[in-house]
Amino acid sequence: MKHLRILECAPGVIAYYDGRVPDYRFMPGPNWVDDGAISLGIASYVLESENKALVYDTHVSVEHAKFIRADLARRGITEITVLLSHWHLDHVAGTEAFAGCEIISTRKTSQHLSAHKAGIEDGSFHGPPAIKPLILPTRTFEGEMEFTLGRRKLKFIEANIHSDDAALVWCAEEGLLLAGDTMEDTVTYVGEPEHFETHLRDLDRLWALNPQFIFPNHGDPEIIAVGGYGKGLIKAQGQYIRTLMRCRTDAALRAKPLHELIAGPLEMGWVNYFAPYEEVHAQNLRRVLGN
Ligand SMILES: [Zn+2]
Repeated sequence: MKHLRILECAPGVIAYYDGRVPDYRFMPGPNWVDDGAISLGIASYVLESENKALVYDTHVSVEHAKFIRADLARRGITEITVLLSHWHLDHVAGTEAFAGCEIISTRKTSQHLSAHKAGIEDGSFHGPPAIKPLILPTRTFEGEMEFTLGRRKLKFIEANIHSDDAALVWCAEEGLLLAGDTMEDTVTYVGEPEHFETHLRDLDRLWALNPQFIFPNHGDPEIIAVGGYGKGLIKAQGQYIRTLMRCRTDAALRAKPLHELIAGPLEMGWVNYFAPYEEVHAQNLRRVLGN
């Protein structure tokens, strides 16, 4: 917890960011908190308006989530709603700290969590630490859902990018998009390469919204802190996915290091190079090639 920092990204947009700190580990041994989240950096977001808050993901532990809830109380927040970006453990682990609040997700997120509840609670699914009790969503949606947060008019948008159950938050008036893991800086983490075509279609759908300020849950804290990413982040994801698809048949492309593969987007400043993503890329390649 000593590296959890509060970033005031924009008016009424707060990131609770942990990780991306050299030599810092959350716990000893292999575990999903360090390996998928803290080593790369992870944020949960809060949108606030008129003493109401939308908490977008409950972070990597109940401790983290309690910290967020206490900070919201200090800010005078009297009503909290939680939206889960998707069902992966680093996004839902702290939900217990929001007991009594409405917990919203896509229907698929709820189904995935329910199906794996026993394994998540005993730590056999993706290994330690266990999340016990795993709190399930209290309300679900499919497609889109309108949501009013004080003076803010929001839309929750379901998408199949990174995982088949993603929920994004879109505020058209402000051009603000909370992206969950549908976009990531340096590159997306591939778990479901069989859905690449759908990922690309849904990225196009997000591009058409014309977002001006994009906030991914895994990204560079220095960029998140000053207002997030531009639309180029969407383009960078699409190009990287297409490159991975070409890697299936192109051995020379497979041999290139990540920073060469994404040289264009790096040069454009759409994404930034963070060396630990070389390992993410190596894993992505293994998944794409099916080994
Ligand atoms: Zn994640």
